[in-house]
Amino acid sequence: MAVDGDETVGGGDSQQPVTTAATATTEMAIARLSRFPNMDHISDNYGDLKLEFSSSVLSSLEKYLPPEMLTANREAKAKFMSDILRKYISREECSKAKWRNNYRQRIISKYQPLYRGWCNFDPELFLLPAFRNAISENTEESFRRIISEPFPGVLVFQMFQPDFFQKLILEVENVRKWAHETNFPIRRPNKTSKHGVVLDDYFGLDIMSKKLMEDFIFPICKGKEIFYLNALERLFLCGAMFDSHHGFIIENGEDRDAPLGYHVDDSEITLNVCVRKQFEGGEISFVGTRCQKHKQTNIKPEEVFRYFHTQGQAILHRGRHRHGARATAPSCYRANMILFCRNSLFREMETYEKEFPEWCDECAHEKKEKESQSLAAKRKVTKKERHDFAQVSFEHGYEPVGVLIAGDD
Ligand SMILES: [Zn+2]
Repeated sequence: MAVDGDETVGGGDSQQPVTTAATATTEMAIARLSRFPNMDHISDNYGDLKLEFSSSVLSSLEKYLPPEMLTANREAKAKFMSDILRKYISREECSKAKWRNNYRQRIISKYQPLYRGWCNFDPELFLLPAFRNAISENTEESFRRIISEPFPGVLVFQMFQPDFFQKLILEVENVRKWAHETNFPIRRPNKTSKHGVVLDDYFGLDIMSKKLMEDFIFPICKGKEIFYLNALERLFLCGAMFDSHHGFIIENGEDRDAPLGYHVDDSEITLNVCVRKQFEGGEISFVGTRCQKHKQTNIKPEEVFRYFHTQGQAILHRGRHRHGARATAPSCYRANMILFCRNSLFREMETYEKEFPEWCDECAHEKKEKESQSLAAKRKVTKKERHDFAQVSFEHGYEPVGVLIAGDD
């Protein structure tokens, strides 16, 4: 079982994530920051130093340095702050983020978007009035009016105006044309994709993805007990908004990418919108929600759900709901916009969770099995005790009292 969304670069790109040679320091006493910033302090610029953390992060953090460090030289301050940051972010994550940032800057300086309005994404222009109204009403009734749930945890609805799809397709084609003409290596949404485009790499489209996630997808997920996917409700109710996203376009067809087999997404919630489709075939199959431990376990017949995605339709599901798209019929083509919505707090909590997560079908099954086993064991003991009691009672000339246990034979 693969995890979709590893954010690798395809197409033989020679650019690899930068690995800096910063050395971890162990000799220093525990490095601590001050609780309050020194607002009068003017931070240094670290842009010209070869460091693993970005200059802007270090400059912002500098105001929190303890007084004795504020007057130290830049190298000493950078080392002190890097030691602290390293406890929170792995070096690999940091190099990836730095590489991604540089990569985006290169695109921004070279690529001219066809449509300049992406960064001011206007819901009135691109979203259907019924969808907008339901979200702003924000009630169970308004959500049920526009969203159907053909299978537990699979929500289906219409959200975009046709003009949105036309503009998006033209923009993606323009990106490809530009990349081809300039020989620019574009990042692909996953390892196997050769045609997909990561929307977040292009100025404006990243802002659009964020807005969609925060202003429109989050309110749907937050609707407690309305839809089956609300296993995240404890977090959402605490106001824990999604805090990162990964938006991309994927295309399947004869001369496009082959669809992915069964996989889970690297997301808490996934929005999958069919942007364009020609001819029939290539349905999406959902095959049970699983936690990390159980993602490879067998499919049970009752958890299989096949859905024929039509053009313009949006599907919302949990990233951990295993799914895969069937190959399209010959000459069939489809393009989907995918938006992974992530919540780092949920992941953090998941790593410490010892109990069965109630949203994993296999965990729920195991829990039920364990409960029925322990119940059966208890019944066995009770039966034996009753038998012993009967024996003792008989031996002492008493008549045993009949005790009825529900389901006992
Ligand atoms: Zn599980």
